[in-house]
Amino acid sequence: MSSVGRQPKDFHFPALTNGLDFLVSAVDFLSGDNGQPEPRDVKYGVLHLQAAVETLLKARLEMHDPELVWTKIAAFDMRKHEAGDFNSCSVKVALERLRDTVQIASAIDPEEDSLTELGKLRNRIMHFGWKDTVVAVQARTIPVLDLLVGFVNTDVLPHAEEATEAVSAERQMEQVRTSFKHLTDFITHRMRALRGELADYEHATAACRSCGQFTVVIDGGAHDLACLLCGKQYGTGKDAAWELIGSSEHVSIKDGGSALNGCGSCGDYAVISAPLANSPEVDAWICFACGSTFEGVCTFCEQATDDIVPTYEDICGNCFQIRFDKF
Ligand SMILES: [Zn+2]
Ligand SMILES: [Zn+2]
Ligand SMILES: [Zn+2]
Repeated sequence: MSSVGRQPKDFHFPALTNGLDFLVSAVDFLSGDNGQPEPRDVKYGVLHLQAAVETLLKARLEMHDPELVWTKIAAFDMRKHEAGDFNSCSVKVALERLRDTVQIASAIDPEEDSLTELGKLRNRIMHFGWKDTVVAVQARTIPVLDLLVGFVNTDVLPHAEEATEAVSAERQMEQVRTSFKHLTDFITHRMRALRGELADYEHATAACRSCGQFTVVIDGGAHDLACLLCGKQYGTGKDAAWELIGSSEHVSIKDGGSALNGCGSCGDYAVISAPLANSPEVDAWICFACGSTFEGVCTFCEQATDDIVPTYEDICGNCFQIRFDKF
């Protein structure tokens, strides 16, 4: 039946249509248009979203100049390119080339956090144990979907060449916008329901490692910490602090590292610097055991304190006095 060189009709996916198809599928799996998605749905949602990111960025590079899709531009060969016989560049490199060579209008940082986090999530799903809840994954994917929809609207659709391509792309984007709205509405609704619990705690609310939202309240209570949005359990405040810096006390000590910084209020060793809900862009020193915040940490006694000696920045009044007395 099959004859060499004849492409089956239903397998013709130009880069743009292909990328948008992944995007439609991703947002469809993630949005829960037909009720809350199952874990298996969000798994495919994440994999297809990662595929959409890679394909759409490269589709735009291809529109500008096919050689930009290659890892080694100098090695470009049109015949190999058409056969798909080459190594294509990474997402980070694609974003650098889009910024520097194509000079797209969307401002997307090549080190964009949400894309890095999506990559990590994809790896967790593919290779390691996957413990995030459905809601956590949904919340994580919103910034990526937001970024991709903006990129396609601003920098891709206006450059779609053939009329037929533009029409089918516009139709695909209609589907994406509808499902994306369902997803954001769902998360907004959940966040709104938490408003009461989060109010007045902005100074002591950290971002969840799983869903990325500022929904981990460090209230200094006796119970363990958990994310109010996605339900991720963190254990004690100290466990949470270690997990948020991506380590554990056990690993740190085994590797010859040290404990976390000590808290000047409760005495526990659970102080790290992290962004908080009231200052999402700037890290603050906070004790995850009791929720106290501090001006700084003394590098001599490793205690968090508000008594940092002005102009020295990293030494507390006590340590300064001791050193001063010696001379
Ligand atoms: Zn969470
Ligand atoms: Zn404390
Ligand atoms: Zn000190």
